[in-house]
Amino acid sequence: MILNKSIEQWQNEFPKLKNMMEYKEVLWLNDQLLPAAQILPDLSLGEQDILDAEARLKRFAPYIAHVFPETEEQAGIIESPLTELTHIQDSLKQQSSTEINGSFYLKEDNKLPISGSVKARGGIYEVLAFAEKLALEAGLITEDGDYKKFADDEFKQHFSQYTLVCGSTGNLGLSIGIMGAELGFNVIIHMSDDARKWKKDMLRSKGVTVIEHSDDYSKAVAEGRGETVGDPKSYFIDDENSITLFLGYAVAAIRLKAQLQAENINISTEQPLNVYLPCGVGGGPGGIAFGLKVVFGNAVNCYFAEPTHAPCMTLGLMTGYHDKISVQDFGMDNVTAADGLAVGRASGFVGKLLENLISGSYTVSDENLFKMLAEMDDKENIKLEPSALAGVSGPAAVKKGGVHIAWSTGGNMVPDAVYQEYYKQGKSLI
Ligand SMILES: *Cc1c(COP(=O)(O)O)cnc(C)c1O
Repeated sequence: MILNKSIEQWQNEFPKLKNMMEYKEVLWLNDQLLPAAQILPDLSLGEQDILDAEARLKRFAPYIAHVFPETEEQAGIIESPLTELTHIQDSLKQQSSTEINGSFYLKEDNKLPISGSVKARGGIYEVLAFAEKLALEAGLITEDGDYKKFADDEFKQHFSQYTLVCGSTGNLGLSIGIMGAELGFNVIIHMSDDARKWKKDMLRSKGVTVIEHSDDYSKAVAEGRGETVGDPKSYFIDDENSITLFLGYAVAAIRLKAQLQAENINISTEQPLNVYLPCGVGGGPGGIAFGLKVVFGNAVNCYFAEPTHAPCMTLGLMTGYHDKISVQDFGMDNVTAADGLAVGRASGFVGKLLENLISGSYTVSDENLFKMLAEMDDKENIKLEPSALAGVSGPAAVKKGGVHIAWSTGGNMVPDAVYQEYYKQGKSLI
């Protein structure tokens, strides 16, 4: 029994559940989708919160450009390219026998500077927000001051009294570890057993303490959360509940709007934007989807994309039980090569916030992730990690017209030897 219902009752109530439990690919469309203008005004977060986050990132831009020279060209703004895909359509057509209707772009967060994944949005933002708060309280800076000073020894000394803690499947740990260590914080990352060895090695080389857990992501987060309770010098970055992380991700929408305008790509309810977002616990894709609904309203349709073995957000949204149930409750194993998406229980706050705004959610098999990984390399010369391919099957899964954007959420940091293994696996499946 799960929440006092038998599996049979659950499956009767939610007919897609049976296929999900058999790890089949599913598409769930949200019948509770409502007009953005009706929903947004009553939410606890709004446009001003996103603008505040964007302004904070602008204040830090001179510092970022200073300490991470690879961001100098973009003046310290951490942003990724929007790339039109021209050849992958043929591969997808072969794989799914579905013609893609409309233009198709990749939002290449795999190329985000500093940590090479979508986590460079939320994770780095939350570390900066915490550092700013401490510096303001200590009288080290004012909001109109020169933020390059954050690189000074005086700041590092101050931050070295504090410890940042988080639980991660890998990439959040990388973002927080790299940014936190640069500012002078102590950093402790609790890694789930899905986390790749190279991610742990890289963090340790930066002086970050990595604690490995033989359990899954939810346990790693709980461990981290427990450790910080009652310690005023410890700051827990809560991937399951953090509003700050969420807003860091949401800023992406403002940036994307400017990129679409620069490319003369018009978005309207007649030519909607369809965005496909790889989803783990939900903070990253949820924050981006929230930002997109604020910016584009009903002219954008957002879909979450999950592995067939870890469809926690699809399960939570479909049933309305969000974080009250996990994929493991229904006998699913949460084992997937898409390590960034290996999450068995969704964030409750994200699902709840978006339940009337998200258009749907779908699942992809690991086999198809690997095939698309190889095709993306062969046809478009773009190298991604498995998680980042989940959005790519979106246009074929959802079958809508308009402008399609698959959010490719990671890849640049993957060591070549590890990438070659992924690629070989993909080729062997085609
Ligand atoms: C973390 C991650 C995601 C999903 O973000 P969540 O906030 O966990 O939903 C997607 N892709 C990659 C590569 C990630 O690391």
